[in-house]
Amino acid sequence: MAALRTESAADRVIVVGAGLAGVATALHLAPLPVLLLGPGLGATASAMAQGGIAVAMGPGDDPACHAADTLAAGAGLCDPDIVAVVTGAGSALVEDLLRRGVPFDRDADGTLERGLEAAHDRPRILHAGGDATGHTVLRTLTDHVATAHHVTRQADLIARRLAVTDGRVTGLWAVRADGAPVFLAARAVVLATGGVGGLYAATTNPRGACGSGLALAARAGAVLRDLEFVQFHPTAIATGADPMPLATEALRGAGAVLVEETGARLMAGSPQGDLAPRDVVARAIHAARAEGRSIFLDARAAVGADFARRFPTVHRLCRAAGLDPAREAIPVRPAAHYHMGGVAVDAQGRTSLPGLHACGEVASTGLHGANRLASNSLLEALAFAR
Ligand SMILES: Cc1cc2nc3c(=O)[nH]c(=O)nc-3n(C[C@H](O)[C@H](O)[C@H](O)COP(=O)(O)OP(=O)(O)OC[C@H]3O[C@@H](n4cnc5c(N)ncnc54)[C@H](O)[C@@H]3O)c2cc1C
Repeated sequence: MAALRTESAADRVIVVGAGLAGVATALHLAPLPVLLLGPGLGATASAMAQGGIAVAMGPGDDPACHAADTLAAGAGLCDPDIVAVVTGAGSALVEDLLRRGVPFDRDADGTLERGLEAAHDRPRILHAGGDATGHTVLRTLTDHVATAHHVTRQADLIARRLAVTDGRVTGLWAVRADGAPVFLAARAVVLATGGVGGLYAATTNPRGACGSGLALAARAGAVLRDLEFVQFHPTAIATGADPMPLATEALRGAGAVLVEETGARLMAGSPQGDLAPRDVVARAIHAARAEGRSIFLDARAAVGADFARRFPTVHRLCRAAGLDPAREAIPVRPAAHYHMGGVAVDAQGRTSLPGLHACGEVASTGLHGANRLASNSLLEALAFAR
């Protein structure tokens, strides 16, 4: 968002959406006055993020290795320059979160713990509260917003239409909870409205993730890109809840395996086994289910009695469904999870429409190509908030 700060007018910027992308953008825009719209924490995908934030900052790791994994997962359709910028920015972004007080998990000697997730060549996923990373990070930054003098929060306002004057976005129309319309002028608008998963019957996303930012941008004439690239997470917990609770990929990173009812390993024939990229694993589970075979995530041997301590969020979600994941395999199926496509932006987060920026899942930055690498989305939201 650096481009916003260099403009001469001193009027406010409107940020639409108070998930990680919106909150981080609002903080980084200081001292510009910011109006931050939309419901926070409980309504966001950010707060549901379990696994963590992928960052190459440990001994023996290198942003170039993280970039190589990102490019491989993206199936040849990532923008290599954006991949280099975002993976290279990771350590400074995490240092900033640490300065702001995010309590990332550490081992006994105080070193940041790093988890492994699918298609990463080594452990590099920082996490907080075990598998409550998104909630922990967003709550910390939301607390900063509450005391930031440059940010005005309007949680009850929902953006309905962008105002365009002489080809430039100059504000927006919004509605209050009681349906009353309001016009808000701005020098620029940042869309941080999240993804589209809520439009699908089977999804891990909050139902509010319905692509409203895409609609706002398209109606105003901005270019959208790669809308067909929707990621399905392989291991949504199939117990009938809506949205479907997620069993984080970090479980497979910790050694949990996908099995059939017979106990046979589903991914035995794949070179990367249970840690193959998400699209590969999701297709394998889909194919098995299409033949009437149920698939389970079995963490009994790898995690077992340590489940509640290491993965408290998944443990709670399983218990709510009457399952004990320390003693039982978890029934899983693919569900719509993440939108790689979105409003096309450049490296500064600028859309094709002057005065309109986009950040977070609503944006198509070129980082993910056709398939997002696990835990690269929180990183992207932080990187493009600057
Ligand atoms: C279960 C789950 C687990 C995940 N785990 C991880 C993980 O471990 N690591 C990782 O990197 N990524 C993970 N992801 C993906 C990641 O959480 C999201 O991609 C990211 O948090 C999106 O952030 P955001 O700020 O763009 O959107 P969100 O966090 O969804 O916030 C968007 C906000 O905008 C609001 N909004 C929408 N439209 C309007 C409007 N018109 N007016 C006002 N407000 C509006 C919404 O209500 C919402 O509050 C996970 C996602 C899910 C669902």
